Amino acid sequence: MNRQKHDYIVVSFSGGKDSTAMLLRMIELGEHIDEVITCDTYKEFPAMYRHLATVKTVVESAGIKYTALRNEKSFDYMMLEYRPENPKGFFGKYQNLKGKSWATAKVRWCTKEMKIRIINGHLRELSEQYNIIQCVGIAADETARLERKGNREKNKRLPLAEWGWTESDCLKYCYEKGYDWEGLYEIYDRASCWCCPLQSLKSLRSLRTHFPELWEELKEMDAKTWRKFQVNYSVKDLEKRFQFEEERTRRNLPIRGKEFYSELKQRLSA
Ligand code: SF4
Repeated sequence: MNRQKHDYIVVSFSGGKDSTAMLLRMIELGEHIDEVITCDTYKEFPAMYRHLATVKTVVESAGIKYTALRNEKSFDYMMLEYRPENPKGFFGKYQNLKGKSWATAKVRWCTKEMKIRIINGHLRELSEQYNIIQCVGIAADETARLERKGNREKNKRLPLAEWGWTESDCLKYCYEKGYDWEGLYEIYDRASCWCCPLQSLKSLRSLRTHFPELWEELKEMDAKTWRKFQVNYSVKDLEKRFQFEEERTRRNLPIRGKEFYSELKQRLSA
């Protein structure tokens, strides 16, 4: 006999400003939520872990189920140790290398393995019993994301877009409610994995300046793996570049232009 499935409202919560604003506002409006799900990559900023813990108490105090997911295999294991069961088919020319190494724009294994696969697995289990309605925190000004086919499916709800809340509205709302991520959003536009090789040089400079202990950890990770951190730079190269920039800034010299890059090239090849 075919049983009618009940709707089950799930809020996807990354801990970032947008999903935090969506979740807190939904609770404030008294909207029904069955479960909040979050997925830890193992590489969130320490302040983000503290933020997640704070919001978890708010969610649970509102009587809502809070599920913290994560891959049983850590980011470090996947990046540095993982060996596929069928190395030939899986890795092609990389079959003898250990671990998946740094992600690239084309091979974002970590987004898939540490987030998407884990979240989708949990949603699939829930959907055996329920008709899932997934609330996703995409702000009203994130036009490209809003237009993605996957975000327009009928089981997705986009509360921020419904309310017309932009990214800056979300941050403002969170600050007003007393959530400040210990200043993370004063430094970064987005607070994703601190070790992400896809982040900009500006953001890596900030990591080195504001989180020297994480920068040291990044150097250690890089020394243990086989793919270059970014196309043009290992983390060691970046350290040299940033030191060189500091030297030139002290001498009031530009950190761009032909002369800068030509001397940088010499230093990197020394
Ligand atoms: S933020 Fe970067 S390191 Fe983290 S999962 Fe996404 S691509 Fe990978």
